Amino acid sequence: MRNYIGISIMTVVVITVLSNIGIRYYFIDYIQKQYAKSDKEIISYVNNSIETDGLLDQRELSYLRQQARFKNVEVLLRDTDQEIIFNSSMGMGMNSGKGHHMARNIYRDDYTYATQSIFYEDEVIGYLEIGHSKSVIDSKADNDFIYAINVLYAVSFMIAVIVAVILSILFSKRLTRPIIAIKNSTHHIAKGHYDNVKHVHTDTLEVHALATSIQELARQLNEQEQLRKRLSNDISHELRSPIAVLRSQIEAIMDGVLEPTHERLSKLHDEILRMTKLINDLNELVVVESENLPLHMERVHIKDILNPVLDNFVPLMDSKQITLHRDLDSPLTIMGDKDRLKQIFTNLLTNAYKYTNEGGQVWVQLCQENDKAMIRFKDSGIGIKEEELPYVFQRFYRSDDSRSRKTGGAGIGLSIVKELVKVHEGMITVDSQLKKGSVFTIQFPLIK
Ligand code: ADP
Repeated sequence: MRNYIGISIMTVVVITVLSNIGIRYYFIDYIQKQYAKSDKEIISYVNNSIETDGLLDQRELSYLRQQARFKNVEVLLRDTDQEIIFNSSMGMGMNSGKGHHMARNIYRDDYTYATQSIFYEDEVIGYLEIGHSKSVIDSKADNDFIYAINVLYAVSFMIAVIVAVILSILFSKRLTRPIIAIKNSTHHIAKGHYDNVKHVHTDTLEVHALATSIQELARQLNEQEQLRKRLSNDISHELRSPIAVLRSQIEAIMDGVLEPTHERLSKLHDEILRMTKLINDLNELVVVESENLPLHMERVHIKDILNPVLDNFVPLMDSKQITLHRDLDSPLTIMGDKDRLKQIFTNLLTNAYKYTNEGGQVWVQLCQENDKAMIRFKDSGIGIKEEELPYVFQRFYRSDDSRSRKTGGAGIGLSIVKELVKVHEGMITVDSQLKKGSVFTIQFPLIK
């Protein structure tokens, strides 16, 4: 509010000062031009009158006096001895004689004079002096004019202050109300209540953008919070039951209740491996998501990386009678980290393998589309529900808890893939139909 008033006062003060300066400057300039014009008229009148007979008669002198009074100037005529022979401010009488009784210096202190020589037949016969008031703006009318303008400024100054006060009260109410609402929302969020963050209505674009960002922040925090809760649930569930099994089995073996058969020990070993994988996956995710993931970027032929990974999967796919098709004719080059690319392909193929039933099919295709390398991993597997598709790349997201638990995943593989594709400046998308199969498509920018 103080700002509004301050700006209005400043504006009016600046305008007042500038216009006063402007008026004085241009007014003086204008008046001086006017003076020069009227001087010229007097000079040419005198010259013209002299030209005819070498002197100024009474009629001409009285015209000169009249003009001087009319133009508010003093006109003096001197002869060649510098004697005053005519003074427009004096009575007619003084012009009849030679004027020798007059003081040489009769100049008025408050006037400035300009002298012109008067010629007759190429000889100087006297001098014409025209005096103007020193202060150009000295007339009451001029000063009244400036005063009136300043009064107008003072009035507008007061109006501006009143308008500024009214506007600032209105505006600050309109501005502060949503900001207070936003502040309350942030307090709400700070206390950990991410839901129910109210939508703030405002016409101010910036405040609206702020309110929307805060709402989005609350939504994301809420999502993260849900994921975190889900993660702790999942991890404790994933770890608690196998550890309980391990513990009871080992205690039973130690107590001599159970025989330490090879089959029993092998099951316990599998559980330990599964838990180790979960811990490793979590560890890997933390590394991949960290800002300074070490990368060794180089020119890579995608085919050279993809083919050996596919070769490694052949025995696994065979064990489930899954047919693995590959269509990798295009020799495409990108900038990438070989090990990280292998990790991307391995995770996607592991999913294709895990979520495809026995006797199914998996296709891997590499081709060029515009200036991108496209790699498609397609399977005839169990598919993903349409409403779950937006979440599959989120950390710890498993489209179906019970199903994933059976397959042993913790919902980390695709988050790692997404992060790694991102550091390669690529993009990954998914398309899927429940019970029909899924297609994961990666695009990487090609290099020449
Ligand atoms: P997980 O270790 O559980 O497989 P991912 O992050 O790799 O974790 O995948 C997340 C979820 O996405 C999986 O739990 C699964 O439900 C679904 N999903 C991933 N790939 C496929 C696929 N090829 N077919 C069907 N569902 C898939």
